[in-house]
Amino acid sequence: MSLATNSAALRLIVFGRQGAGKGTQAVRLAAHYAIPHISTGDMLRAAAASGSEFGQQVKAIMDAGSLVSDEIMEGVVAARLEQPDAVNGFLLDGYPRTPGQAEFLQRLLAPHGVSMAINLEVPEDVVVERITGRRVCSECGTTYALGRDESATSGICAKCGGAVVQRPDDTEAAVRKRLSLYAESTEPLLAWFRERNLLADINGVGEPDAIAAELVGIIEGHSANEA
Ligand code: AMP
Repeated sequence: MSLATNSAALRLIVFGRQGAGKGTQAVRLAAHYAIPHISTGDMLRAAAASGSEFGQQVKAIMDAGSLVSDEIMEGVVAARLEQPDAVNGFLLDGYPRTPGQAEFLQRLLAPHGVSMAINLEVPEDVVVERITGRRVCSECGTTYALGRDESATSGICAKCGGAVVQRPDDTEAAVRKRLSLYAESTEPLLAWFRERNLLADINGVGEPDAIAAELVGIIEGHSANEA
């Protein structure tokens, strides 16, 4: 069986402004449903870290807070969704980000399409504060928050001892640029999913475990309605 022939596969998308807690919730949901968490941002950062020619190309774009082209992203996403671990579904985080990407994804997933999209809502001033205070381990990728986690202040990862740093695209200037790109390019996609009754809006301010439990309840309710 492949993803294309498995009609029961859970094809989830998580939307939200940068810093809305998408990554945190995506990890929990992926574990709950035993499906891969596919973060296009993580994939591109891994490519950048590898130092390949492709990686160097995308690193410059990411560091400037701009979007990688739809054409490049098509190749990245199509190749990832063909991997055997996605046969029972996947949770996409960071894709689609433009109308062109949403159209491509629907074509790629035909005839089933996306099962459900989740929109984690967090006000802009809250996310700017969260992102500029975010630090990440350069070795294992664990995320820390200034004012909450000692590793963010000490610069040493509590898990692996690696250097904890600020991502170049988490500075205030880059964050403002990414938020305006999100409003321009990605927010219109929410309407597309909402019109098809595929979008659940969730308040993303609160305790992560409570938000995760609410999300699971909504996904189960949606799947039961579809069945
Ligand atoms: P993220 O971790 O999702 O915020 O992504 C980090 C950066 O990777 C973005 O600011 C973009 O430069 C790039 N990126 C990730 N996903 C996409 C996408 N779907 N389309 C274009 N660029 C992307």
